[in-house]
Order: sequence, then C-alpha cells, then structure tokens
Amino acid sequence: MDATLLFPLPKGMLIEDLQATETSLSLTVRATCLTSCCPLCGEASSSIHSHYQRTLGDASCAGHWVQLCLIVRRFYCRNQLCERKVFTERIPHFVEPWARMTIRLREHLQAVALATSGRGGIKLAVRLGMQTTRQTLLRRIMALPDLPEESVLYLGVDDFSFLRGQRFGTVLVNLETHRIVDLLPDRQAETAADWMKQRPEIMAVSRDRGAEYARIRCGWGTASDQRGRPFSPRQKSDGSTPVAAGAKP
Ligand SMILES: [Zn+2]
Repeated sequence: MDATLLFPLPKGMLIEDLQATETSLSLTVRATCLTSCCPLCGEASSSIHSHYQRTLGDASCAGHWVQLCLIVRRFYCRNQLCERKVFTERIPHFVEPWARMTIRLREHLQAVALATSGRGGIKLAVRLGMQTTRQTLLRRIMALPDLPEESVLYLGVDDFSFLRGQRFGTVLVNLETHRIVDLLPDRQAETAADWMKQRPEIMAVSRDRGAEYARIRCGWGTASDQRGRPFSPRQKSDGSTPVAAGAKP
C-alpha cells in the first residue's frame, strides 16, 4: 500500500523509509520532481549541486508523534544573469525555509494554543501526539496577525484589575460593536486621553463616575463633538455619562 494514502504529502513527495515505535513515527521523505525553480529569478533547473537533511516535526498520526527527515536538494541556477548560483529547493504550502515544523503542525499547535489560551495546551497537545513547549504555544498566538484596527465612534471607558485591589488597567470598548478595542496598562486619565488623541473619529466617550476618569472630560474640554456640533451630556440609564470627545487636550 502506498504510505502516502495514510500520511498525505504534497504531490511529488515520496516516503523512502518509515520507522515506528509505540509512540512515534519517523519518516524519511524527499521530493521526486526533476526540476526546481530558483527563488530569485524563477528559472527551472535540473542541475543538482548537493543534498542535506532537515529534521521537522509534523502533524500527528493516530496519536503518534511524527518526525520527518526531509532530504533536501540544492540546485545550480543556470541563469547567467541571476545572482544566485546555488539555491535550495522549496516545498511551498508544506514547510517554510528555516522552519522546524511543517505548516500543518504549526496550524494544529496554533489551534490548541487559541483554544486553551496557552494554559494546559501542552497536556492537550501531547495527548494529541504533538510535542511542544509552553513558549512555542505562546509564540504561535503572538505570530497571529493583528485584527485590522476598527473605527470607533462611541467609546466606553472603565477600569479593571490585573491584581484584585492592587493594580488596575483601563478597558476600552467600542459601544457600537460591544468589542474590546484595547487594554491600557493603568487607569490614568492621561493614558486614556493619549489613546483617544490617536483616534480623532471618536464622537463621544462613556465613562464611569470615578474621579480619575472625570479628568478625561476635563482634558477633552469642550462640550462639542468632532464636527463642532454642540454636545449635551446626558446621564445614561446605567449611571454613566457620555463625554464630548471632539476637542483635543
Ligand atoms: Zn536564479
């Protein structure tokens, strides 16, 4: 039976050897296509310069941890105009240059990290046949691209505690989408005002009635919105007060 039916690999890749233990699989794989394209000039080459081996973690198979020994070829680039004389073949959508794991294992670890917020993720990953560390899971979360910054017209400001009763931060909420847009490291009016200065589109701010956040209102100063229209603060049903956010401190 073709082992790639049970262990899918990109088209043109061949499993040369497979060693199994009770908990792991070790596969030796290589590309079989006759040519590879130079990453600099794009010209195909069939002139092999040398081989070397890369060891990669891969997605688990039936709960077994999987390690790939990938035999990689170096090719000569025969394009006289190209600066790259020797290049390493690429296996796009499977493994990135210099990576120590395949893209699919990286995505699995990312899913575990997001589902567990990193906490307990190692136990779950090991149970699923993936060897990892806490640092790797956290790196997978940190490597995710930031969400595009959304426009905030109506902002909610409140405090929260990092450490109950001792250390506080500020949570900023988009009152239209009810999404948290940022967390600030303290609950100083100046920090919140600096954040708001970067977002001139803000029309109004709703804050709690604490003395510190009241200074935000003083900082922004005028009772008019960004377009210069008069703004009449009204107390909301939850006791908070909308604050005009048009003028900069
Ligand atoms: Zn080239």
